[in-house]
Amino acid sequence: MREQGMLIVVSGPSGVGKGTLCNILVSKVEDVFLSTSATTRLPRPGELDGVNYIFMSHENFEDKIKKGQFLEWAKVYTNYYGTPKDVVIKKLSEGKDVILEIDIQGAAQVKKNYPEGIFIFIAPPSIEELEKRIIKRGSDTKDSVDLRLKCAKEEIQAAFDYDYVIINEDLDTAALMLQSIVLAERCRVSRN
Ligand code: 5GP
Repeated sequence: MREQGMLIVVSGPSGVGKGTLCNILVSKVEDVFLSTSATTRLPRPGELDGVNYIFMSHENFEDKIKKGQFLEWAKVYTNYYGTPKDVVIKKLSEGKDVILEIDIQGAAQVKKNYPEGIFIFIAPPSIEELEKRIIKRGSDTKDSVDLRLKCAKEEIQAAFDYDYVIINEDLDTAALMLQSIVLAERCRVSRN
């Protein structure tokens, strides 16, 4: 058992499939813990409190910001999203690798405080394909789809600040790439 796990940040535009890829990673590779974020957005149909997100009010979220209970937090679109700090620190100290599936603003905060983290960007094969996937997911209004696509174009520029970029064209291949990165990083001797 390793003394300290790795902090692994996974970002990418909404609808790119990063949630699916992270879930496959957790099911295939031992000792990987997927952090559950807190958010003020409303649950989508089928989403469960404490499983997909910890859903909370704006007031409660802002109180936790003040108390320093988030490792990072950001306002994405119109809602707050944040990573509860305590559980991440605990899992890392137990030797588990912790995955944070967070947006590019949150990733930039983590990079400042944990530069030894591993930063992975999931990109769509094209903006047209991303649009198809968001529409197919069926949970967003036309305005929400447009906003997500507008943000996606900006987010993709941030890919250059990450350590790895995976293009999610074929799900099985992308899942294998993500697993390979995590397993290879576990074998790394030095980070210089
Ligand atoms: P969605 O509403 O589609 O579930 O997520 C919207 C965006 O918020 C996605 O880019 C997702 O990665 C990001 N996100 C989810 N959880 C967190 C978090 O804890 N912190 C930050 N900074 N972004 C998050």
